[in-house]
Amino acid sequence: MSHTQTQTYTYGDLGNHIGGRSVHADGGDRLQVQDPSDGRVVGTVPDSTVQQVDEAVRSAHEAFEGEWGSLRPSARAAMLFRLADIMEERAEDLAMAEVRDNGKVVREMRTQLRAVPKWYRYFAGLADKLHGEVVPLEQESIVATTTPEPYGVIGCITPWNSPIFLAAWKLAPALAAGNTVVIKPSEHASVSTLLMAQAFSDAGLPPGVVNVITGGGPGAGAALAAHPLVRKLSFTGSEVGGRAVASAAAARGVGVGLELGGKSANIVFDDAPLDAAVNGLLAGIFAAAGQTCVAGSRALVHRPVLDEVVSRLVERQQRIVVGHPLDDATEMGPIANQPQLDKTREYVSIARQDGAELAAGGGPVEIAGAPDGLYFQPTVFTGVTPQMRIAQEEVFGPILSVLAFDDEDEAISLANSSRYGLAAGAWTTDLGRAHRVSRRLQAGTVWINMYRANAPAMPFGGVKDSGIGRENGRHAVEEFQQTKATWIETAPAVGDPFSVRA
Ligand code: NAD
Repeated sequence: MSHTQTQTYTYGDLGNHIGGRSVHADGGDRLQVQDPSDGRVVGTVPDSTVQQVDEAVRSAHEAFEGEWGSLRPSARAAMLFRLADIMEERAEDLAMAEVRDNGKVVREMRTQLRAVPKWYRYFAGLADKLHGEVVPLEQESIVATTTPEPYGVIGCITPWNSPIFLAAWKLAPALAAGNTVVIKPSEHASVSTLLMAQAFSDAGLPPGVVNVITGGGPGAGAALAAHPLVRKLSFTGSEVGGRAVASAAAARGVGVGLELGGKSANIVFDDAPLDAAVNGLLAGIFAAAGQTCVAGSRALVHRPVLDEVVSRLVERQQRIVVGHPLDDATEMGPIANQPQLDKTREYVSIARQDGAELAAGGGPVEIAGAPDGLYFQPTVFTGVTPQMRIAQEEVFGPILSVLAFDDEDEAISLANSSRYGLAAGAWTTDLGRAHRVSRRLQAGTVWINMYRANAPAMPFGGVKDSGIGRENGRHAVEEFQQTKATWIETAPAVGDPFSVRA
């Protein structure tokens, strides 16, 4: 589709999705929805008040206490399989909504939205296989069992970069385990999650099982985190937001899963397949304009291949097509919102002040017909040292910092010199090195000779300041379950409680 065909769309004033329907509550402010490709305001969503959040949580609580809570797991599974089919049918429309919401390129959002049903199918498949155990105790007359049970209402909070994809990582396991959900997408990209909500009703999930409320972090997000009926929180976003949500959870004594940021190292050894490695470096940082949690924002390059790698990076950087996210030819779209663009610009200045050398990019890109579009050049800094802020702080923008190393030990020490530990990549043809490096890297995910892959069956999450808990994989369901211990005395009588037992 040509982007010119899309320029007349608007969403109007959207409501929250509560109890299976769109709710336009009285009162409360509204947030503008802005298309980052041209700066147009294309609709509004509620900036939900504490009362509106309360309404959504109560709806989820009632659904949990009602029909959903008493459904057999196989019935939940059937609904989630149906949901996956519906999400598949709507993938194109939802991908378009995401592109218009966060400006990411259409080819990436299509790939993501086509993958989303896999998550619902994977966890639907697990829903009726979540059994407990019989525990052998000393007292043979006692039958002791464990039963996994849902928590009740789960509060999910998601960022703007991949709203529906990252929602699936939470919703699929939470629902498979039998919970109900209130989800608050980012105030910078709320539309797609609101549009997605209808699919849950169409798949037959009872009203209130999945509710979507929109609004800001410190407002609606904080109200969700603080709500006494929310029994567990699952957060993806920045460290600042994550810590606020974790504090709210701690204050109420409930659990929290945190998927936070990173400053991931992508390491190129001198024995690496260089074509693939350079493609991996480029894909790791520029494919989504750097706006992914796992962005390979630090390229650590073995000194013997440093010049070659930098010259290939710069050569390809000059040919990266920056443009409208709906153009199929576009390789890198706009930055998703103004604060994020300001932050990216600021880090270019910081890197220069700290002494890094600007090898490519560093400035805005003018796109014909979109004077207010938030476009920025893919940017490469060389001569970066580990103490520089550009080597330590997450930009969440298209800036690659290149650091040089002399041997394997130095590569590991540089990679681990970050307080983050979300992901890392290494490029080498030496199998022994691949194993050694992957063991020593402090990261929740290590990719060898590949970068930025994920699958519903593979666990994902951070170490160090990148988070707590794991999403995806078989055990992700356990994050949304608590264990009941049941003791059954099968011997005929219980003795006098006050007589001393032999
Ligand atoms: P953000 O923290 O600003 O916002 C994320 C969500 O948290 C939004 O819905 C926001 O409204 C909410 N929020 C913010 N403050 C809150 C508060 N005090 N209480 C409750 N909710 C609050 O993050 P962002 O800018 O939307 O996303 C970018 C960040 O997300 C980056 O740091 C990136 O690395 C991280 N991220 C992590 C992963 C992962 O899986 N580890 C994936 C994508 C993005």
